[in-house]
Amino acid sequence: MLTEIKQEEFEKELQQHDNLVLDFYSTECPPCEALAPKFESLADAYGKDVRFVKIFRQGNRELAEKLGVKSSPTLLFYKKGKQTGDVLIGGIKKADIVRNLDTMLPAEKVKKIKSEIQPVITHADVIVLGAGPGGMAAGIYLAQAKIDTIIVDQALPGGQVSTTHQVSNYPGFVDPQKGYMLSHYMSEQAKAAGVKFKVAVDVNSVDLIKKEVVIDGFETIKAKKIIISTGASPRYLNIEGERELYGKGISYCATCDAKYFHDKEAIIIGGGNTAVEESEFISKFASKITMIQQLPMLTANKSAQERCYADPKINVMLEYEPRGFYRTDSGRMLVRVEDLKTKEIKDLETDGVFVFVGMKPNTDIIKDNLETDDWGYIKVDDEMRTSIPGIYAVGDVISKKYRQITTAVGDGTIASIACTKEIDN
Ligand SMILES: Cc1cc2nc3c(=O)[nH]c(=O)nc-3n(C[C@H](O)[C@H](O)[C@H](O)COP(=O)(O)OP(=O)(O)OC[C@H]3O[C@@H](n4cnc5c(N)ncnc54)[C@H](O)[C@@H]3O)c2cc1C
Repeated sequence: MLTEIKQEEFEKELQQHDNLVLDFYSTECPPCEALAPKFESLADAYGKDVRFVKIFRQGNRELAEKLGVKSSPTLLFYKKGKQTGDVLIGGIKKADIVRNLDTMLPAEKVKKIKSEIQPVITHADVIVLGAGPGGMAAGIYLAQAKIDTIIVDQALPGGQVSTTHQVSNYPGFVDPQKGYMLSHYMSEQAKAAGVKFKVAVDVNSVDLIKKEVVIDGFETIKAKKIIISTGASPRYLNIEGERELYGKGISYCATCDAKYFHDKEAIIIGGGNTAVEESEFISKFASKITMIQQLPMLTANKSAQERCYADPKINVMLEYEPRGFYRTDSGRMLVRVEDLKTKEIKDLETDGVFVFVGMKPNTDIIKDNLETDDWGYIKVDDEMRTSIPGIYAVGDVISKKYRQITTAVGDGTIASIACTKEIDN
């Protein structure tokens, strides 16, 4: 059972219910929309033992502030009147809510609840796996052609674009667009066209032969066709200290972390388009940037290179390679680099590091034998068909020369038109 309360009722709820979970939501909040069906289905499953309460954040600001709630959605858990477990925010996954609920109840009770959860089977014409620009373009075309389409994503919609600070080369906008706004327009357009989204879910398995995707452990989505649009992720350097200092001094996303570099120094590893373009953004905050590039030249496009070399804050070190990341006693970062010409090792001190050394295709979830190129990118024909009948792939995950928003969107368009024509084959 799900109940909506006002702030003045909160204390009474706490006194009356030993186990309580509180969802602060807002309107016009995509992550709140993504959470709502999960919260409802868990209220059905756990509702006899845990009180599920929703509260509108904007209308109940005083309580939100008192409880330290700054964004929507925020989930808070209470046991016997005291806050317990995690504070969950943003693209909240069902598995994370379940983990917190399970710690509030005795083990036998949890076992019983789980044994009573009925698996769900959902049908669609097409599953689009990945809600980046490629997947969303495919979804828009499919839904507008009256093809029943579900887009599944392990994160919130947007893909790499939502972590890109500005996009200036996507047609239709005179001024540069913030990446997250461009993503937002795409997902709103897809929703308006009739696409159903299942996002911030755990994708447990993908069976390309049966055309089935299992999410959140209990829901199987069956379709006639699948379009894979899972994109690509940053490549790691795999050198000493990288894993340990990931998120603690080493970042792969300027949009997410450049703001923490106000008047600080940063080292950027890489010299391609992303490294050079993101250095421009980081330079708005940082007092000094050192770019480490293993090649004798930068490989970004010419105009980006020119802007980079003209920026007095950026110093480019060519033919150097990073060998390890460490923390100094004073808590700063130390980057060990090798001069590839002289083999000399140097230690460079800085406040933080950004790594931009290329990408790898997101295909870990695909266990079926799909034909790929030597780097693992999925091979497709000119209508985006893969080597498995009824399976298409689009965007950065496919083997191709140029990976851009426009090319991903173009691939999505082609796949969806081909898929619409072949839907009953
Ligand atoms: C920092 C940066 C700046 C960029 N700037 C520009 C630019 O200015 N202009 C431009 O044109 N391009 C730019 N790009 C490139 C552009 O963002 C990509 O080419 C584009 O996003 C590719 O779209 P996609 O749909 O193929 O994949 P992605 O955008 O990578 O989206 C893939 C989606 O699939 C999801 N996913 C992954 N694995 C799974 C799974 N197992 N199950 C379910 N879902 C999954 C991900 O969560 C993600 O939402 C930039 C990229 C970066 C990283």
